[in-house]
Amino acid sequence: MAADPRRAVPRTDVLLAEPRIAAATERLGRSVVKAAVGAAQDRARRGEIAPAEVADAAARALAGPATTLRPVLNATGVVVHTNLGRAPLSAAAQAALVTAAGYVDVEYDLATGRRATRGRGALAALLATVPGAGDALVVNNGAAALVLAATALARGREMVISRGELVEIGDGFRLPDLLVATGARIREVGTTNRTVLGDYADAIGPDTAFVLKVHPANFRVEGFTAAVDVRALATLGAPVVVDVGSGLLRPDPLLPAEPTAAGTLRAGAVLVTASGDKLLGGPQAGLVLGDAALVAQLRRHPLARALRADKLTLAALEATLRGPTPPVRAAVGADAELLRARATTLAGELAAAGVDAVAVPSDGAVGGGGAPGLRLPGAAVSLPAAYAGRLRTGDPAVVGRVERGRCLLDLRCVPAAADEVLLAAVRAVQPAGPEC
Ligand SMILES: *Cc1c(COP(=O)(O)O)cnc(C)c1O
Repeated sequence: MAADPRRAVPRTDVLLAEPRIAAATERLGRSVVKAAVGAAQDRARRGEIAPAEVADAAARALAGPATTLRPVLNATGVVVHTNLGRAPLSAAAQAALVTAAGYVDVEYDLATGRRATRGRGALAALLATVPGAGDALVVNNGAAALVLAATALARGREMVISRGELVEIGDGFRLPDLLVATGARIREVGTTNRTVLGDYADAIGPDTAFVLKVHPANFRVEGFTAAVDVRALATLGAPVVVDVGSGLLRPDPLLPAEPTAAGTLRAGAVLVTASGDKLLGGPQAGLVLGDAALVAQLRRHPLARALRADKLTLAALEATLRGPTPPVRAAVGADAELLRARATTLAGELAAAGVDAVAVPSDGAVGGGGAPGLRLPGAAVSLPAAYAGRLRTGDPAVVGRVERGRCLLDLRCVPAAADEVLLAAVRAVQPAGPEC
């Protein structure tokens, strides 16, 4: 009778001592390594691999990075893609993350040895970008900024808001639900398509904490419509708080229709809230800018502690504000001619290798971050639809878009420096076989 192969599976202590696996313990930690070793032993016990292959299998599983998150080449043409992590960070912001990963003076004054304002570098950068703001505050995300404003300023009172601005921000989350959860009341005015100044004026009373204006960042209403701008709202006497959503701080000629924090404050808003990881192109963060006394009220509210931004965010935000053009801005402004030239070159090389590839015009979009309906003319490499699934599960993962039976790789959000990597990823796909 043959010996039971399961008895030949190497022991855990032997595997943990294997040099490659021992090195992985340093890098990834003991529990991750033990789990990988256990998984490889189990595979051998089930007969999926030979006992002699266990060490190799465990070492292979441990060769990757410490996170299960996988980098993606965004070939969707959608710049601020929520499912793909919204804004990719600039090199400067990435470097700042590494600095902030260790002990840093995030809340400490090295000169005096005393406690200092948390994230003061990021706050100074925000105020330098929006000089019209009396003060600024950074919290976890845009929704947190709104929750903090509603809780600190309107709990038990009313926020007057147009019915046309009661928006769902994604994944089933609706701003009105979020706002009501704070204990503030919503006083709806106007209709879905039309709200006029008189609607607000009629609703404002002693119970009004503020008028809330929410930028419809992810949809557009067309036709018989009316909305009231901030300048007009500010004449009504009640404080006006504006959720600009996208996080544009200053006007951008590429996005003329997007509201900015600076412009909104100038128009008379007392507070502006925004996201850091949409058009601003920084880390996930919620920004509050405006009247110094109101910002101080938000900062001192007990909830502020639960919503505060971490040191990594503060570091990356500061670097985004002070640093080079963020990738989001570069992708929104990518030159259509250059995109077309890249698509033509890539498609040509693939076609020469026998791949059914052709360069096609492709419209990108800003995405959930703002500028709904804005067409960004660009170019894509068009492949058979069967490529989509295999590119997604390849290494690196490439996420394109399937349109009219073709897999389009839109180059807008793919850095030109990654064209060779993209080419290799497509070449690595075996075209024949079942669709994924
Ligand atoms: C995106 C968005 C939010 C939510 O911001 P998060 O950073 O996703 O929390 C709120 N309001 C508007 C108008 C938005 O566009």
